[in-house]
Amino acid sequence: MASPTQSFGNREESDNREVIVNIGLDAEGNITVDPEYFKVSKSKNQEVRWVCAMQHDHMKGRPCFTVDFDKNGSPFYETQFSSDAPVSGLARRDVLPGPKIYDYTVQVGDKEVDPGGGVQQ
Ligand SMILES: [Zn+2]
Repeated sequence: MASPTQSFGNREESDNREVIVNIGLDAEGNITVDPEYFKVSKSKNQEVRWVCAMQHDHMKGRPCFTVDFDKNGSPFYETQFSSDAPVSGLARRDVLPGPKIYDYTVQVGDKEVDPGGGVQQ
């Protein structure tokens, strides 16, 4: 039996350009965000991808979570994301790496939590 052909060097963008933040619900129905504080590297052109960790079906046009940088600004060009638009894009050119935490709001249904994130070298 022939073994399946392994193709190396054929993968899309290397994984570590994306910083994954999982959004789920705990047993009590409260929102969980993992990690609670993301860090994106500017020099590595990293972006955040918020991923739904809830076990449910997705309907187009009805995002199951929203992400909103509505507190002290967004380190990205956009301020709002959702399960339909889950990738942050690159950090803004004028955002300098540093200790600043950008607080944001994750909303699922009528619940919300305020995790945060920052930009590093
Ligand atoms: Zn979902």
